[in-house]
Amino acid sequence: MDYLNFYSLLRDENFEKCRALPTKKLLGKKNTIYNFLFIVDDKILTKKNNPFFFNSKKLSKNFNSFSLSFISSLRNNIYILCYSNIGDLKKIDFLKNCDFLSIREALFNLQGNIASIVSAGYSLYKWQRNNKFCGNCGSKNKFDENGFTLICTNMNCKKKVFPIVYPTVIVNIINKDKILLARNITWKKNLYSCLAGFCEQNESAEETVRREVYEEVGLKIEKIKYKYSQYWPYTSNLMLGYEARVISKKSKIRINKKEIEKARWFSSKEIISLSKQKKIILPTKEAIAYSLITDWVKKN
Ligand SMILES: [Zn+2]
Repeated sequence: MDYLNFYSLLRDENFEKCRALPTKKLLGKKNTIYNFLFIVDDKILTKKNNPFFFNSKKLSKNFNSFSLSFISSLRNNIYILCYSNIGDLKKIDFLKNCDFLSIREALFNLQGNIASIVSAGYSLYKWQRNNKFCGNCGSKNKFDENGFTLICTNMNCKKKVFPIVYPTVIVNIINKDKILLARNITWKKNLYSCLAGFCEQNESAEETVRREVYEEVGLKIEKIKYKYSQYWPYTSNLMLGYEARVISKKSKIRINKKEIEKARWFSSKEIISLSKQKKIILPTKEAIAYSLITDWVKKN
C-alpha cells in the first residue's frame, strides 16, 4: 500500500505547536532551516527541479509584501508557503531565473515525502485564493494568524472558514472473474480506470457509489465494501476507495455517452497482457485507482 500515502503530509511532533503560532513569529527560531515554497498565478517556482528555496536575507527584506503560511515541520526544517504578485517576486534576485511549473509538472520528479509537502502547500494556496471574500457578507477575509483559518474582517460578522476537502468515491466493480474499467471522454488515449464521482449533499458515500455506477454504465451493484482512501491534491478531493459486485443477470453495460467513451469487463490476465502491449494504460502508481486495480489483479 506504499502509493496510497503518496500525498499524506509528512509532519513531526512539533507540527501542532508550529501551526498554533502566527507564521511570521515562526521565522526567528534558532537551528532551523526555513524552506519556502513559492507559488504565483497557480504555478510552482522551481530551480533545477527543486521547489524549495532556503532562508535568505534578501528574501526576509521583502516579507511584508508576501502571504506566508506554515505548511509543515520536519526535523529542524520548517516549510512555509509564500505567494505574492509576479512584480514583487521579480524584485528578489535569486527567483529571477526560475521555472514556473504546473502542480502536476512540479510533483512529477519528486519523492513522495517532498511531494506531499508541495501538494499540501498548493492545496492551502488554492483554498486561500478562492476564499478572499466572506461567503456570508462579502467583506474581505484575512488570515487568522497562521493561514489555516480565514476570518471575515467585518466586525459584525467575523465568520471563520477552514480548509475544504471534497469527498469523492472511486469503485472497483467486480463481475465473477472480471472487473469493469472505463475511459472518460476527456482522457488520453488508451487510459482506463475505475469509475469515480463526487458525493452530493445528503448522500452517504455508499449511495454515491450506487448512483454513479448506475448513471455512468447502467449497472446495479451490491456488496459495496470500503477499501481505503487517498487525498488527491490537484482537486482537493478525499478519494474514498470501494469495491462492489454487480448484481448477477444485470451485468449489461449501458454507457452514458456524455461522460464515458468506453467501458468493458477485463480479466486479470487481460489487464496484465494488454497493459504490457500498451493497448490499455492504467492510472499512475500514485493514484488510488492503480492500487484498487492491481490489488485485485494480484489476488486473481
Ligand atoms: Zn463576513
